[in-house]
Amino acid sequence: MAVSKKDKLEIISNIFNGIEEYWVDGKGIIRATNLEAVTITGYEESEVVGKSFTVLYPPREVADDPLRDYISEAIVSRNLKTSMVLVRKDGVRFIAKVNFEVVLREGVEHVKITVQDKTYKSIQKQKMKRLESHFNSLFHNQFIGVLNVQQVDLKIIVANVRACEILNEHDFIGKSFDRYLPDEEAVRWFCSQLDKENDEGFEMKLIQNGGKTRWVRINYSLFTTEGMTELLLFDITDDKKRIEDLERINNQLDQFIYHISHDLRAPITTLLGLIAISKKEVQSMITLQGYLDLMLQRTRHLDSILIDLMSIALNEKTSLDFDTIKLSEEIQSIADQYVGDTSGPVPIHIAITQDFPFISDVKRLRIILRNLISNAIKYQNPAETQPFVKIRARAGQGYTFIEVEDNGIGIHAQHDKKIFEMFFRGTDKSSGSGMGLYIVKMIVEKLGGEISFTSHPGNGTLFQLVIPNRADDVSGDSPAVRHNGQRERKKFTPTNLIS
Ligand code: ADP
Repeated sequence: MAVSKKDKLEIISNIFNGIEEYWVDGKGIIRATNLEAVTITGYEESEVVGKSFTVLYPPREVADDPLRDYISEAIVSRNLKTSMVLVRKDGVRFIAKVNFEVVLREGVEHVKITVQDKTYKSIQKQKMKRLESHFNSLFHNQFIGVLNVQQVDLKIIVANVRACEILNEHDFIGKSFDRYLPDEEAVRWFCSQLDKENDEGFEMKLIQNGGKTRWVRINYSLFTTEGMTELLLFDITDDKKRIEDLERINNQLDQFIYHISHDLRAPITTLLGLIAISKKEVQSMITLQGYLDLMLQRTRHLDSILIDLMSIALNEKTSLDFDTIKLSEEIQSIADQYVGDTSGPVPIHIAITQDFPFISDVKRLRIILRNLISNAIKYQNPAETQPFVKIRARAGQGYTFIEVEDNGIGIHAQHDKKIFEMFFRGTDKSSGSGMGLYIVKMIVEKLGGEISFTSHPGNGTLFQLVIPNRADDVSGDSPAVRHNGQRERKKFTPTNLIS
């Protein structure tokens, strides 16, 4: 059969590309091949010539013999491309790209079947698909924010959903990563970190879209060839807060031990000294009276420190214990303990309205009242001719409001932020341990309430507190509830208070 120039070129090209050629008749019987030059199937030409092309089919499919269909379809359409699984001489299957082409040569129609091994390509394609899906599931994970930024200007090119959440950003297009860094200094520091080879990454503060702060740990890799840096963001805001809380508590504990050991020793050394002198001077009863007064004073001081310590322990260690509280009785009985407590009597005016049963933790409430009332008396102004302490309270349905007001020495504005701190004493007049208001605040917070104050130096101070009333938590007949949960709190504003 004479072969045209075009056919010759195709024959050569098929040999170069490793494509097997089978020339078959209308029944699919192989008449000629290029197997002397190409071998995918491992057959020699002599082994297949005269046999059906189905010799390359997997055994089960020979029975179905779709070959005739292919050939008749190819005769109609002149050219038919398909892929199928074929079997090599050694029994190994492979994915073949098979092309049926009807060629007219010297007036006779021949069917040329070309076979190309696609197994490698298909496997690569499958691998790529798998890699792509792994990459996608890694990229769109719920935990780690992923951002690709340009090294030159930190412009964000891609970001996953988690990165959007961490930065509270919905659209990164055209935005640069440095907009989420707090200031210029932070931008410089961030860039200097990227210049280091730091496998462990680094932690830094970011400012979300909307202005909120988030702490993140950043790991990164540089794709220098592409001029890109991939940033992995781990949100560590909650961990940071927990660490800060722990550090604060630890710090307070250190301070606490230091102060308390000093405070406890001072009255004891005074007492020891006084006892030693008293022993020597028992003859003089008048001097002894003076020493006993001093001893009493120092012992009281020691007692007050121990009471403070017990209050802290009670608040920290015991759970809330709710009971119905007769507000009027409680306030009156505590006020009575302080009448005549100063050099001159300080009148205590009490005004209580109780429209609803007040349910809260009575032990904790007593500690609050004792501290506020004793301070109101202790910090009276000596120049004031008509000193007073006013206590007002109103038990409402959801909240109970309490105010303790005095016309004493007041608190300097410079101390405003400190007076609730542990061991803070704002004046020489303080003979206490500086723990009272710290304890009050801790307890109010534990009860789910809030405390605030206003003061005018020289004119007096007003403490205002609001405590949730657990009355509506009570079910059944029993007014007493034991409940440790915290309810949702209303925002505390002065308008909540007694008018
Ligand atoms: P302490 O009374 O033992 O010093 P507190 O914690 O009770 O400790 O109070 C802290 C400081 O707040 C006091 O030293 C005082 O300066 C100031 N302070 C508290 N209550 C009053 C008040 N009613 N009037 C004036 N100053 C007050």
